[in-house]
Amino acid sequence: MATPPNPLPSVFDGHHPPATEIIDKCVHCGFCLPACPTYVLWGQEMDSPRGRIYLMKLAAEGAAQINPKWVSHFDSCLGCMACMTACPSGVDYGKLIEATRAQIERIFLRSSAEKRHRHFLFDTFTRPDRLRRLRAPLLAYQKSGLQALVRGLRLVKLLPKRLQTMEALLPRLTPREAVPEVTPAVGTRRRRVGLLLGCVQQEFFSQVNAATARVLAAEGCEVVAPQAQTCCGALLVHAGEEAAAIVLAKKTIDLFERANVEAIVTNAAGCGSSVKEYGHLLRDDPEYSERARNFASKCRDISEVLTELEPRSPRHPLKLRVAFHDSCHLQHAQGVRSQPRALLSSIPGLELTEIPESATCCGSAGIYNLVQPDAAKSLGDRKAQLVSQLKVDAVATGNPGCILQLQSALARQHQKTPVVHTIQLLDTSLRALSPDSLRG
Ligand code: SF4
Ligand code: SF4
Repeated sequence: MATPPNPLPSVFDGHHPPATEIIDKCVHCGFCLPACPTYVLWGQEMDSPRGRIYLMKLAAEGAAQINPKWVSHFDSCLGCMACMTACPSGVDYGKLIEATRAQIERIFLRSSAEKRHRHFLFDTFTRPDRLRRLRAPLLAYQKSGLQALVRGLRLVKLLPKRLQTMEALLPRLTPREAVPEVTPAVGTRRRRVGLLLGCVQQEFFSQVNAATARVLAAEGCEVVAPQAQTCCGALLVHAGEEAAAIVLAKKTIDLFERANVEAIVTNAAGCGSSVKEYGHLLRDDPEYSERARNFASKCRDISEVLTELEPRSPRHPLKLRVAFHDSCHLQHAQGVRSQPRALLSSIPGLELTEIPESATCCGSAGIYNLVQPDAAKSLGDRKAQLVSQLKVDAVATGNPGCILQLQSALARQHQKTPVVHTIQLLDTSLRALSPDSLRG
């Protein structure tokens, strides 16, 4: 029997609303519920993947309005994609949430304070030049002992909550290590690869980029790191700021096409998951759609690139017990799980251990820990407790946001366990350095 036509128009605009064919794939089985961090935290159906998909369906059928309550259920979603891994019906929740968030940012009027906060975050965290200007005052804040004083006397509590959150996430800054435009391969060149430097990564974790370039070079890769690269747009696209993300995606494609590389290496999982989806982001653009698909097909996480190459450089022992933390944008969005573990297991003396509930987000999730600090803190504390029980010497992960979030959560529990990028452990092994060097 034919379905009667729906009398109510969709509340979404006509520009790529969440796709009905994806929404209709959801059979409401609920397998995704225990995998969803916000459902685990609050036990509310509308803060679960199934509930959120139902809210999308209602809006698409004109039966729900895009009002503050409706929006709050999507703002509280981490975009962690754990539901996609758990879903037996193959519902592509990633496409749904991306489309829904873009609709929200076009249709829904956020409060002035919220708009200002979001603009500040995007204007800062997508601009390496601005982050670089912040380095000097932040370094002075840390090196002068002011930070220790402010934290010791609990003066942080006097700051507005949003500043408290940022202060708590601030990593210990180290001297900036620049990656040159071209790093030659050591020995015979096996591949010529591009390196995406990332915004937060190149300013607050420049040691990770330096380690990435060194390891790639040691394994026979010539590394091209275009100095003019801008933000790849990951934070923006994950937050529904589609138009701004498209501008940055096009600039990134232009630049790396000129670099003429065989692969484009990412070492920040959030950026990696975004650039691998450029084909989807630019699908409407006649000039860029094919180029974007070609670009995306070359993008590989550093762990993927290195596990595809026969190891060439000797690994030196590193006597460490290490817990590996899966970043959501690596495990769920990119499906990269075995490769970082294989890299760590190739280091003699390193004992690799797993963190329970490894599929659950640590609460970082792009700007989530800045815009939803309470939920992010609960998730961070839960993860830190699980890590503490393991009695490890270090935690390894593949995303700068997770490093910030885990460092901050462990510090709240007075744990000094270093949280590092996987590539830093491999770099330490290849250079036969002391594990103490990982403490910065
Ligand atoms: S993306 Fe993460 S937080 Fe959002 S619905 Fe899926 S599992 Fe839940
Ligand atoms: S597991 Fe998949 S099909 Fe089942 S409720 Fe969740 S999204 Fe829907």
